[in-house]
Amino acid sequence: MSATILVVEDEPAIQALIEVNLRRAGHVVHLAADAETARRLVHEALPDLVLLDWMLPGMSGGDFARLLRSEARTRSLPIIMLTARAEERDKVKGLELGADDYVTKPFSPRELVARIKAVLRRQAPQATEDAVELGGLRLDPATHRITAGAVEVNLGPTEFRLLHFMMTHPERVHGRSQLLDQVWGDHVFVEERTVDVHIRRLRAALEATGHDGLIQTVRGSGYRISAT
Ligand code: CA
Repeated sequence: MSATILVVEDEPAIQALIEVNLRRAGHVVHLAADAETARRLVHEALPDLVLLDWMLPGMSGGDFARLLRSEARTRSLPIIMLTARAEERDKVKGLELGADDYVTKPFSPRELVARIKAVLRRQAPQATEDAVELGGLRLDPATHRITAGAVEVNLGPTEFRLLHFMMTHPERVHGRSQLLDQVWGDHVFVEERTVDVHIRRLRAALEATGHDGLIQTVRGSGYRISAT
């Protein structure tokens, strides 16, 4: 599994411990020692998950979580709160602020990695290496292969990411701007019609095995993948 994780932690020793363990687990790690720096990094590029310490100099982790939840762009960004406070009321408060999970210090690095994996599975399956299947198509991020039965389907890198995102979020309608954010990365200035070009290429590649019909156009809204 390779996800981009933003670690917001002001204690250097803990920051280093987290960094080494997340890198070992295959993740890309970005570090911030305070919420203001983290905010700037999130503004530059959305991570797949934020690991957020509660006690930070300046803006607290709780306030930063609330801020992330209040903005449309970061509303569903997975957050794991990290804290020295083991008290039940703080745990409840963290979850009320919108954190997806909660890890109490001192923690075992192995547990932390497992919690991150669980939250990613739930909230950002496109950031995991789990194989996905839909309507006779199988996409395996680990081997970068797509198969329809015994037939291999070859896709360009953008079409691969597009199909991966759609297969991990089936039945939902995705607008062009949302697909740009999720597949191209947000703050990448690409015109929305670029999405249409890649959808067309994706359909053309799926035509040979008769799977192009999985990609549906929802007039005025965007695209959806559906096996029904
Ligand atoms: Ca701290």
